[in-house]
Amino acid sequence: MEFKQLTREERKQALAALGEKPFREKQIFGWICRGAENFAQMTDLSSGLREKLSESWEFSRGKIELIQKSADGTMKFLIAFPDGEKAEAVFMSYSYGNSLCISTQVGCNMRCAFCASGLGGKIRDLQAWEMLDEYLLCREAAGQPINHIVLMGMGEPFDNYANVSEFLRQIHSPDGIGLSYRNITLSTCGLVPYIKRLGEEFPQVNLAISLHAATQKAREALMPAAKAYSLDVLIPACREHAEKTGRRVTFEYALILGKNDSAKDAEDIAKLLRGINCHVNLIPLNPVEESGLDTVPRTAAHAFAEKLESLGIPTTVRRQLGADIDAACGQLRKKHV
Ligand code: SAH
Repeated sequence: MEFKQLTREERKQALAALGEKPFREKQIFGWICRGAENFAQMTDLSSGLREKLSESWEFSRGKIELIQKSADGTMKFLIAFPDGEKAEAVFMSYSYGNSLCISTQVGCNMRCAFCASGLGGKIRDLQAWEMLDEYLLCREAAGQPINHIVLMGMGEPFDNYANVSEFLRQIHSPDGIGLSYRNITLSTCGLVPYIKRLGEEFPQVNLAISLHAATQKAREALMPAAKAYSLDVLIPACREHAEKTGRRVTFEYALILGKNDSAKDAEDIAKLLRGINCHVNLIPLNPVEESGLDTVPRTAAHAFAEKLESLGIPTTVRRQLGADIDAACGQLRKKHV
């Protein structure tokens, strides 16, 4: 069995079963965060313990299989895990630092109409260590520090909460990377019960909600998950989250030509979000061939943003990064399975 598959608590128990003290786990975790390939490299453990560990446990690491570099510095990575499954991560450079977009599942079950990740459904959840490996491998390959992460790659993080929450604890731990929770953003299509849970367990982690439509009917047409968690329950949960955590909620809105880009749509968004400590991030749709949906011109996106601003909603238009590489979620993996 894979050692890294255990939670940090379970690793302490496994070490105790070998007669070892809990601080050994901290040493091993430190090695994992420094990119160790095996137990043999962990030279501050006795050779006897290293041997015992190697006999009892497998120790694996993902591999970067492909890197696509954009002229603007964006890098897209395809990472292969030991069972051959693959996930994507995207490195982006901003004025405030470097950010990595991390996948939480291979494929996705949410099946949003515009998204490439859900085309083949979910293949499997990623484990906490695999998400940590995405960070470590990409940082190594980029040769630059990464001070922000966004859980906005393939997968629905709230459909894999146990692994995602363990990953958040691991990447935050001062025993390794020590990334501040305030520098982490989790994006969800709106699985309401977990919004409350995230607020209680990780109040400093930033929450982003994929809104994409401001009426229930239009949202259901784009996002099947909206049928289970309607705007009537989603929006109050977001309001409560913002109030309880004191943090600003982001609403992502992919602008799709002729579907959700009218002046009336902007008015509906403003009505829906009025009074919530939030901002809207507009994303001109990254067209995925199979969806039959088109993007809007950037000028239209900026006009939509101005309209929202005039209605009192702070709005940004996402910078277009990596336009010359397969930037939309799930596109790179789809080409290489
Ligand atoms: N499952 C999470 C994370 C998914 S991806 C969620 O739904 O939020 C992160 C964001 O990219 C989401 O807002 C998602 O709706 C959006 N997205 C997916 N495919 C897209 C595309 N082709 N163009 C623009 N945005 C897209």
